[in-house]
Amino acid sequence: MMKLSVLGTLGSLILLCSSLLAARKPQTIEVVSQVVYQQPRVSVFANSLHYRDLPMINYWTIIVLNKENWDEAVLKYKANTVTAFTLPHLDQTFLNGPWLQKAGDWEAKHTIAHEAGHLICKCNGENEANKVADKLLK
Ligand SMILES: [Zn+2]
Repeated sequence: MMKLSVLGTLGSLILLCSSLLAARKPQTIEVVSQVVYQQPRVSVFANSLHYRDLPMINYWTIIVLNKENWDEAVLKYKANTVTAFTLPHLDQTFLNGPWLQKAGDWEAKHTIAHEAGHLICKCNGENEANKVADKLLK
């Protein structure tokens, strides 16, 4: 528990500093994880994207779901995916925890960038989101 709160404090400090440097980066990226070890990983990836002057939202919530809740969420929101999906009207992204635990770093980071792409283009198009993701990863 001690380690987690130290990480959380460090995370907030890093977030605060970097938000001063990049004006269009989300002011807050809140990551909640129901599976072990993925919270700091997702937080690092989401914070390391190159938002530059892209019109990203200010408060982005990313939730890493366990298998039971992922299965339920996919049904509830009729999401046709095994990796992640974003609800633009709620500024929320859901990640499939069991998939994320097996995904390599590049794949995980690209998926997070793709979801940020949906929030930036404010669209559901996969090609548009990928185009934005390319910019975020460069
Ligand atoms: Zn997509």
